[in-house]
Amino acid sequence: MAVTCSYNVAAPVSLTAGCNRKIFINQLDTTVPADCEAPRILRIALDTPLRQLFDYRPVPSVDTAALKPGVRVRVPFGRRRMVGVLIETVEYSSLPSQKLKAALEVLDETPVIDAALLAFVRWAADYYRHPPGEVLAAALPAGVRTGKAGVAEIPPHAPLPTGEAGEQDGLELTAAQVAALEEITGGLGRYGCYLLHGVTGSGKTEVYLRAIDKVLAQGRQALVLVPEIGLTPQLLERFRARFAVPLAVMHSALGDRARLKAWQQARSGEAAIIIGTRSAVFAPLPRPGLIVVDEEHDPSYKQHEGFRYSARDLAVVRASRQDVPVILGSATPSLETIDNARKQRYHRLVLPERPGEAHHPQLRLIDMRRHAVQDGLATPTLASIEGHLRDGGQVLVYLNRRGYAPTLFCPGCGWTAPCSQCDARLTVHLRSRILRCHHCGFRQALPFGCPTCSHEVKPVGQGTERVEETLAKRFPEAPLVRFDRDSVRRRGDMQAVLDRVNSGEARILLGTQMLTKGHHFPDVTLVVVVNADQGLFSADFRASERLAQTIVQVAGRAGRASRPGEVLIQTEFPEHPLLQSLLTAGYEGFADTALSEREAAHWPPFSRLALLRADAREARAAMDFLQNAVDAGASSAEEVRVLGPVPATMSRRAGYHRAQLLLESRTRAPLHRFLDTWLPAIEALPSARGVRWSLDVDPADLY
Ligand code: ADP
Ligand code: ZN
Ligand code: ZN
Repeated sequence: MAVTCSYNVAAPVSLTAGCNRKIFINQLDTTVPADCEAPRILRIALDTPLRQLFDYRPVPSVDTAALKPGVRVRVPFGRRRMVGVLIETVEYSSLPSQKLKAALEVLDETPVIDAALLAFVRWAADYYRHPPGEVLAAALPAGVRTGKAGVAEIPPHAPLPTGEAGEQDGLELTAAQVAALEEITGGLGRYGCYLLHGVTGSGKTEVYLRAIDKVLAQGRQALVLVPEIGLTPQLLERFRARFAVPLAVMHSALGDRARLKAWQQARSGEAAIIIGTRSAVFAPLPRPGLIVVDEEHDPSYKQHEGFRYSARDLAVVRASRQDVPVILGSATPSLETIDNARKQRYHRLVLPERPGEAHHPQLRLIDMRRHAVQDGLATPTLASIEGHLRDGGQVLVYLNRRGYAPTLFCPGCGWTAPCSQCDARLTVHLRSRILRCHHCGFRQALPFGCPTCSHEVKPVGQGTERVEETLAKRFPEAPLVRFDRDSVRRRGDMQAVLDRVNSGEARILLGTQMLTKGHHFPDVTLVVVVNADQGLFSADFRASERLAQTIVQVAGRAGRASRPGEVLIQTEFPEHPLLQSLLTAGYEGFADTALSEREAAHWPPFSRLALLRADAREARAAMDFLQNAVDAGASSAEEVRVLGPVPATMSRRAGYHRAQLLLESRTRAPLHRFLDTWLPAIEALPSARGVRWSLDVDPADLY
């Protein structure tokens, strides 16, 4: 049994606790009693918002020396009891021993999380400056976190069902697919990052499947990350049809029990393939062989609240730490990834076209200033739709705005319906006869007249509901399906909609971002982007990248060998350099232009960012706190530029006033050194108590 030594040492607990001993001895000149039998302190991660680990004395009857990091431990915490995870045992605590409570119970013999994954979780907590207990909680299913679920011992000879192939497609790979596959499979067994760059339908998934086949044959596991499972039933089907091995599916819509089961299957090695959304990057993999990130540019890989991590970036880190290859697949890679490939950090593999097809869709700009426009659709657009429908093609219409209209307007006095909680307008949902705020969820009944002058009010602008109405009136013979969060809500809705499209019954497909993900519609011959202008003049430096990706992605949903597609982009700014570079030189050309703009303006990937956001009920509180934060960092900010504080673009949301402070440095290291000292200083600010604040390392959005 371990003995605890008495040390009245109070130093801050550090995440990287290995160096604590040196610090104490230097600071306090304490000597270690020679007869002290290696005292053990349990250092435990608890699911709390505190950026620290917690020290406990050992459970009296348990041999601490035999405890493995990663086992669960029940401890007293305040008045409660909590289950935490043992991170390490150390000799000294920075707390006086009389203040240390004893742990109550060790729950496991076998760690619930293996050493490699635990180290990765700690790395992620450090990098994103997030409380380690919360990061760990994101990595574990609920039952395991709370201690309710028992966790089986992993069989010592962790045998995977070998990749006995299911039904083979018997496809003959194109030369480009063969080359890509050879490079990837030649790199199995060690780290390498491969950018698989190919348009939708060029055969990326086929390359993943064949690479995974090899991985399974080696008795290893493959982890496949996808942006949104609900939107990609076809992908799952394809995996299930191809491989006769158990597949674990992990995503946020799973119930606790299903999630626990998937996690256990991954952990025991029973599941040879794990497919999941961003949090699956923390899936247990006793025998990792390959990681795939499909649609690596997709913004949903970044978590926007709580633990703000990028699953794409973490997938690359995990692959490198576990020495396995990672494939980043996309038709429109993020500018960061393109830059990494140009700098030879990633291997770029190109699938130039769809098998058996050499046509790319024709892009054409429709100048909205020069044509009559009816409810958001210009005359030449309507004529094109008519032509394609007549020729038997399907037509895809993209508009990233749900509802009927984004604004309710009074022509009598100029009033527009505002959200009472946000600095935003309410969206008209005509069918359900309500006004709804798309930012905070506030809703109210649609008024009949203006609340200030009683004049009749009218909806202004277009949402999908309104365009649906216009198209239905204009093309009554053409059945239409709408894809947006209002029309595709329940499980099964997506499949029902896809069935109508694939059977050919539906002739017009109208929808939001949802349409640009995961699906391929071979009978679509015309794609219409109703409004490209939202993305052209945004304050967010990533908006133009998103717009270009959306246009290329939505264009890529269409066409097949016998029917080259046509793409119409409606805009009031046809001469805009972004649209021009996209039109004349494709996504590559756009990326060139955009990367040189980023370089000139010192935006990522030519700089590193962290964003401190704050919001508060009281108007001044957020700005005051951020100003104090600026002052707290002033002395150490040599290589780090501190920009702000400024109110957020939407300065009030859900009743909170919002502001932000941007940190920028040319490279990663100085920024992280700065955060090392700055973050504890901010945490200690008295003004921090009156606000909600968060730090976002590598933020994806700046508003
Ligand atoms: P992506 O993932 O790039 O969208 P997929 O791998 O899904 O592309 O391929 C698109 C379609 O083309 C699928 O129906 C697939 O079966 C088919 N396909 C893929 N590779 C080939 C090939 N070499 N020859 C013929 N068809 C192929
Ligand atoms: Zn009015
Ligand atoms: Zn609102």
